[in-house]
Amino acid sequence: MHELGIVFHIADSVEKIAEENGVSKVLGVTLEIGEVSTVMGDYLTDCWNWNAKKSEVLNGCELKIETVKAVTHCDGCGRRYETVAHGKICPHCGSENTWLLQGNEVSIKEICVEDAEMEVSYARDEQGGHPAEQRG
Ligand SMILES: [Zn+2]
Repeated sequence: MHELGIVFHIADSVEKIAEENGVSKVLGVTLEIGEVSTVMGDYLTDCWNWNAKKSEVLNGCELKIETVKAVTHCDGCGRRYETVAHGKICPHCGSENTWLLQGNEVSIKEICVEDAEMEVSYARDEQGGHPAEQRG
């Protein structure tokens, strides 16, 4: 995972959202980072702070990171379990026919601007192509 690339991508998205909403200053951005995404939060924050200085909209913007618990779905028994605790083998039925439901994503949860907090619906990054979108 390349933290710098993620920072550029997030910064682009935030700037775009700010522009669309007529916002000239973004005070804070909250990210959701999956438990098994391999993104290093501290390094991501460093990259963010370095990059934010170059942007008028993002200068001084604080990056907050929330961790999303990794959950795996088992096709063998249809149940879900914690990925970090059990890995690829289902603790309920022993099946290896499992896939990551959530926990690999890096997404913007919230953007804080001067006047109000904007709830942002932001399409999750397609990373690793896990079949989480095939639900239902
Ligand atoms: Zn199972």
